[in-house]
Amino acid sequence: MPVGTAATVKALTQEALEELGASIILANTYHLYLRPGHELIRRLGGLHSFMSWRGTILTDSGGYQVFSLADLRKIADEGVRFRSHLDGSEHLLTPEKAAEIQLALGSDIAMVLDECIETPAPRNIAETALKRTSEWARRARNHFLERATRNGNPPQWQFGIVQGATYADLRRESARQLLELDFAGYAVGGLAVGEPHELTCEMTAEVTALLPKDRPRYLMGVGQPEQLADYVAQGIDMMDCVLPTRAARHACLYTHEGRVLIKNSRYASDQRPIDAQCTCSVCRRYTRAYLRHLFAAGEITAAILATHHNVHFYLDTMRQIREAISFGQLSNFASELRARYVAGPA
Ligand SMILES: [Zn+2]
Repeated sequence: MPVGTAATVKALTQEALEELGASIILANTYHLYLRPGHELIRRLGGLHSFMSWRGTILTDSGGYQVFSLADLRKIADEGVRFRSHLDGSEHLLTPEKAAEIQLALGSDIAMVLDECIETPAPRNIAETALKRTSEWARRARNHFLERATRNGNPPQWQFGIVQGATYADLRRESARQLLELDFAGYAVGGLAVGEPHELTCEMTAEVTALLPKDRPRYLMGVGQPEQLADYVAQGIDMMDCVLPTRAARHACLYTHEGRVLIKNSRYASDQRPIDAQCTCSVCRRYTRAYLRHLFAAGEITAAILATHHNVHFYLDTMRQIREAISFGQLSNFASELRARYVAGPA
């Protein structure tokens, strides 16, 4: 899922996303709640209509951003009180409020509010956060189902989020507690936040072993291109990451041979496309030399072209993963991808 923080995937139009074949994007509840406000978006017909996006939208709960505001927030059992990074105004985000905002936005998939902690976390901190996350999930589920009963068919899918830091038994405990609430899908949160990749995979596998195979399983906030197949191998169906778009704006391009840091002087007269194997419209038309020039000159087109290519690369990697699965070749594909990334571009 490309990340469209403020109802836009930075540097891409919705037409470009359609051309790229993106079927689902993520939008950030925290940002849209503060600006332009969920009530305005509700009045304008919901997020799909507001941003003219016919595809699927997943909204996060806003929790991750709020918990990132270390100096501006205060956590209690009721919810998390925080100050806006925009104007300093004070707000209270509760599990019910997070569900309510996402109903107003009218996204297709809504996430429950969870407590995000820094890792590595001491066990007692992880236990407290897990307990609160389970209680908040129960409140969010009740609120959502009560609203759904009142209005007929549930207008959204609601996903629970497994926490538990890097403690396998806490991860399993968290998954078991969420399963009792019968969510439409389940996410794994609080991973890939600095711990070794092997540990991320290990924790993910602990959880996916317990989650039902007929519900989507979503690993939040991953990952590097060469890691995507590893997560799929652990049973993950969905991922989101700012990496392809953010790296693009910082002149880092992903290719089948690894990362191309396009500002490097070695590309100044390089007439090749970004990636000779890539079928995206940027690679069919423009050279590395031109991209490098646009970045050097600080042209806005640099971000547009680089983002287009990187998002294509990620979506194409996922298409190749699906193909590898259908041929029973996922583990071969994963190790080849990793090997190419370690070797780096010619
Ligand atoms: Zn390309």
